Amino acid sequence: MKVTFPHIGQVYIPASLILKELGIPCVIPPENSYEALERGKAVSPEEMCLPFKLMTGNLIQAYEKGAERVLMTATMGPCRLGEYGELMKQILDKSGYAMDWILLDSPRAIGSAEWLRRLGRAGQDRRVSGLKACDILTRGVFLMRRIDAAERQLKARAGYAEDPRRCIRMLRRFRQELRAAASLKDAFAAAARFEDAVKRLPLNWKKDPVRVLITGEIYTSIEDIANRSLEETLMGLGCSVRRPVNVSWWMKHTVKAALPELHKTRGAWLPYSIGGYAKETIEEMRRSQEDGIIKIMPAGCMPEIVAKAASASLEEAQGKRVLHLIFDEMQAGAGYETRVEAFVDMLERRKRVFPGN
Ligand code: SF4
Repeated sequence: MKVTFPHIGQVYIPASLILKELGIPCVIPPENSYEALERGKAVSPEEMCLPFKLMTGNLIQAYEKGAERVLMTATMGPCRLGEYGELMKQILDKSGYAMDWILLDSPRAIGSAEWLRRLGRAGQDRRVSGLKACDILTRGVFLMRRIDAAERQLKARAGYAEDPRRCIRMLRRFRQELRAAASLKDAFAAAARFEDAVKRLPLNWKKDPVRVLITGEIYTSIEDIANRSLEETLMGLGCSVRRPVNVSWWMKHTVKAALPELHKTRGAWLPYSIGGYAKETIEEMRRSQEDGIIKIMPAGCMPEIVAKAASASLEEAQGKRVLHLIFDEMQAGAGYETRVEAFVDMLERRKRVFPGN
């Protein structure tokens, strides 16, 4: 059976290479685009969040390319994501895109035994031994971590680069090379070249760039099309960017959540998990040492709306400078760019007028 999965950032690279090395035929949906959004919107309930519509569009496009089985992670959490997969399956079935579904809900929600059973089902068509499959999966996870770590380093250095636009070109080239990789080995080689290029990037440590934390809803944070390439915009403006939420963070968080909790940590500003990663967003904001924070969310995201309300008291108490951006289904990006430019400009002036503050 040809397997597919919806996009989120660069996940499709390790995911498709893992499937390829396991000998499982796979269909990668066309790159995320406004066309995918339109296809998703056409069948989704209007009030659903942006990630849902984009992912639904990905799966419709993959179905048209011959996909027969969907492999998807879920969380069974209290936000829309809790019923995400089930709802998406029903909508696609009813709209004439019926496929076989394997929902990898979080082990905490369905238990480790059930999680392993579903994972086993996902790999039942594999053409390699169980041991080899474990090795391939582990290498795929390491590849994702390496991609995230290298990109993270580049984004932090962008503010110190002699030519910040060079960082954008490097990032684009790296992703192109990853797309062209025919095996996990090729992708690791591309990651090694990129790491080397990041180390050799001419830097000026005397610069004092504006440092920005990007936090908020996970899909919008990771997926460029959902945030109108916010990181590139910031890098182009000479900022040093940190975005802690990435796929590696999500994997670590999911594993940790499945383990028994020794110390229950309850943040003062948002003590309970209300779905998505709203609680973590607020914690990141509380800990942030950056000059400014850009908190992002897609239109229709319930947990992040609550986080936005909680962040107001945090901003007041700690004097944080926060720009809230809500990304909707409109295609115009100029409005966002203007707001980001004005925010960075304000942070720069503050640094000059109140150094060290
Ligand atoms: S966290 Fe927000 S955007 Fe993500 S699934 Fe839940 S409601 Fe949708």
